[in-house]
Amino acid sequence: MTQISSSNPLLTIDKISKQALTVISTLHQSGFSAYLVGGGVRDMLLGLLPKDFDIATDATPDEVKSLFRNCRLIGRRFRLAHILFGREIIEVATFRANHEEDSHSSHHKPIDYRQHSGHTKDGMIVRDNVYGDIEEDAQRRDFSINGLYFEPYSHTLIDYANGHSDIENKTIRVIGDPLQRFQEDPVRMLRAVRFSAKLDFNIESQAKKLVQSQGHLLHKISPARLFDESLKLLQGGYGVKCFHALQENHLFSYLFPSVQKLIEQKHETISPFILQALKNTDQRIGIGKTVNPAFIVSVLLWYPMLKLKSKLLADNQENEFQTLLLASQEVLKQQQSYTAIPKRLGFMIKDIWLMQSRLEKPTKKNAPVVLAHKRFRATYDFLELRIKMGETQHQNIFNWWTEIQEVDEGEQQQMMQKLPSNSSKNKRKKRFIKK
Ligand code: ATP
Ligand code: MG
Repeated sequence: MTQISSSNPLLTIDKISKQALTVISTLHQSGFSAYLVGGGVRDMLLGLLPKDFDIATDATPDEVKSLFRNCRLIGRRFRLAHILFGREIIEVATFRANHEEDSHSSHHKPIDYRQHSGHTKDGMIVRDNVYGDIEEDAQRRDFSINGLYFEPYSHTLIDYANGHSDIENKTIRVIGDPLQRFQEDPVRMLRAVRFSAKLDFNIESQAKKLVQSQGHLLHKISPARLFDESLKLLQGGYGVKCFHALQENHLFSYLFPSVQKLIEQKHETISPFILQALKNTDQRIGIGKTVNPAFIVSVLLWYPMLKLKSKLLADNQENEFQTLLLASQEVLKQQQSYTAIPKRLGFMIKDIWLMQSRLEKPTKKNAPVVLAHKRFRATYDFLELRIKMGETQHQNIFNWWTEIQEVDEGEQQQMMQKLPSNSSKNKRKKRFIKK
């Protein structure tokens, strides 16, 4: 073990959330040990602003709960304590071990023994998971850079896995045997790629080879968990880098196979289209704006959907709108066995796609409906992206939609009055040329 009574100037109390400090000192007062752990410590050591702070302690979840009124226990397999402070949640986890059947069972003293072994529904292999001590807790974490513990009051940094030097060398190193740890939980491969992209770190070479060759292990992971991980990759503020890193490490096909297929067929516009959307998303997150997960998925699956639509039309489906609806449903359905898109998002994605043609052909009747639609903004952003990428030429109509959002209600009425009454192509063209 390396215990550094750290004088590292980056580890200062003022960088740590007041709430996390309160939780730690309350645990201390009751005689428990408590440390900041994981991404918060890692990011502080990198001079980054930590996203959140997790705490590890030797108190059991019930003991934690008894100390805080604002505490909820979550999780079935591993109970975690969530301590709520308004919108901020501090997650408190009890130290736990991750024992192999055949290893040192003589010197572990579980406080609570759970008989879970085999696969969970999330696809992880669970060796005997039991509560343990801090050193065991460090061993079950994914990467050395995520296995650092910091106790802010005594300013002690505990580093069992050489994480501090790996941070300095910008290396992502798996704790333990990389193949075993990836087999145990293949999502760690996606996490390695995400941290390497976000932090500009290299994945240590043995682990990198495995990441590039063992992607198939992800088939064991539940589509719901893969969807969550996909969002962390694409909407974590480093989407462009993560997209490239997923490609380089041959993992993207396990998340969005229909997209990967088009990329491999050298579809001309799909990658630039996705990258432009990811760039916009990264910028929005960079300035603290929120992003809608439906938007990025609607971008990813747009070309696979259009491709299916063309196929259906060629196969004698006649009604254009019906075919669009059918293709949308089918593409979303096929995606469910890889990354499970929550129903609510599925509806939003369909709205974005189905409203494109109405946005491109505004009429007296549909324009007010479109403008008032709760997905208007996402649909408008989507049209902007399509125009920017040269997929559609409706720049003048797009400008009209931009203008109508900026004027008052009276002027909006006037603008709408000038629209054609129906979307018959010739009429629409004439009106717009006059305008
Ligand atoms: P982020 O900046 O994305 O929040 P993080 O490192 O804090 O990064 P979390 O997903 O919040 O990541 O997890 C907190 C900590 O829990 C990690 O730092 C790591 O120590 C541990 N951890 C999370 N997921 C795994 C996993 N799949 N296997 C092993 N340890 C994990
Ligand atoms: Mg975190």
